[in-house]
Amino acid sequence: MSVVAPIYNEEGNISPFLERLQLVLTSLGCTHEIILVDDGSQDSSWSEIQRLASLYPCLRAFRLSRNFGHQHALLAGLGMACGDAVITMDSDLQHPPEVIPELIEAWRKGGSLVLTRRQEAKASNVFKRLTSRYFYRIFSMLADMDVHQGASDFRLIARQPLEELLRFDDAAPFLRGSVELLGFPKSIVDFEVAERHSGQSKYTLRKMLQFANLALIGHSSVPLRIGIWIGVCTSILAFLELCYILYQVVSGSTVPGWASSVGVTSLLFGVMFIVIGIMGTYIADIHALLKSRPKFIIWESLEGGVVASADPALRTASHGRRGAAGILRVDQSPRQADKPVRRAL
Ligand code: UDP
Ligand code: MG
Repeated sequence: MSVVAPIYNEEGNISPFLERLQLVLTSLGCTHEIILVDDGSQDSSWSEIQRLASLYPCLRAFRLSRNFGHQHALLAGLGMACGDAVITMDSDLQHPPEVIPELIEAWRKGGSLVLTRRQEAKASNVFKRLTSRYFYRIFSMLADMDVHQGASDFRLIARQPLEELLRFDDAAPFLRGSVELLGFPKSIVDFEVAERHSGQSKYTLRKMLQFANLALIGHSSVPLRIGIWIGVCTSILAFLELCYILYQVVSGSTVPGWASSVGVTSLLFGVMFIVIGIMGTYIADIHALLKSRPKFIIWESLEGGVVASADPALRTASHGRRGAAGILRVDQSPRQADKPVRRAL
């Protein structure tokens, strides 16, 4: 089992997060690794991770060279994971580690993708709840897929869908949408969002809007086609206006002067610029894709090794090339993890 958690300025949360997570994982009795991805934190998160690495041999950590954003940090961790199933979760304890056994239970019952639904009784403010509710409705409508209300990045992905997910090459990844495109048997587990353990949310209103915008652009082409409908409606209006003007000319009344012309022209210009703006956003997306810059850059890494809490047999751990599951014996030191031993199946 791999657990991936992104870290961005979470110095006060890493230790309690690892403590609670480790407790849950140990009680499960499966071989596990915890992957922390430091997404260019400016506080002492990385030194905190380095300090804790000696206490958690199952810890593997990767430090990105700058802040690439939550979704990229998640993808970096997913690409490194070696488990048969990978759980992604936030590191601020809003996603309670105690829910993990439920996710695993649902996976064992056959769900290759176990998604979660946030129940936000007290933890988040009314504004965030409302915007999130309407965002998912609008997103599902425009992107023609069903992203359930309260969707979050706390989920379990089995190895096979994970390999497929890693083949997605979105310039602005939105994993809540991408997992819906994967197919595979899905199940949903409800959980109550906890309060942030310490620090503040990194999603400011501006970041939320940016995220929502990129998610829509990345998964729906409806906004591109809006121009056609606006064009059709304005053409009908223009045609009606033309009929009215002709009637005025025939009946000898004066054709309304410049005010109406200026009104119509500016309306049409307005519409045109909106449409150009929408097209520009898509072109920017294509542009980003064509440049095919790296989605993240790993600066430093810490390979803690492997821990087998119950099963002393062979299990995973190695440097995570995408999908690579180099296997090492649990009695090997982390150094030896550099030379993965193949599992005899
Ligand atoms: N995060 C990240 N990079 C960012 C922003 C956030 O890795 O640029 C991490 C953050 O450390 C946390 C998770 O993503 O583990 C969710 O962020 P946050 O708690 O700020 O979001 P919220 O729960 O308020 O939506
Ligand atoms: Mg949070």
